[in-house]
Amino acid sequence: MINQENLSSSANESSSLLESPEEKKRRFLIEFENPFKCDKCNERFKKKKYLREHKSEVHAY
Ligand SMILES: [Zn+2]
Repeated sequence: MINQENLSSSANESSSLLESPEEKKRRFLIEFENPFKCDKCNERFKKKKYLREHKSEVHAY
């Protein structure tokens, strides 16, 4: 007996790993709007000031 539902759900999972064009565009926009990236945790910020504050708060040690 083969469980058809299991087979189709695993196929859906693998296809969701591929980014849709819309997701790519959205991620591009996020990177475009938040050009300041933390080099320690890869978080993105709109302003250099936010990045500096983030670093001093999260990566102070
Ligand atoms: Zn960080």
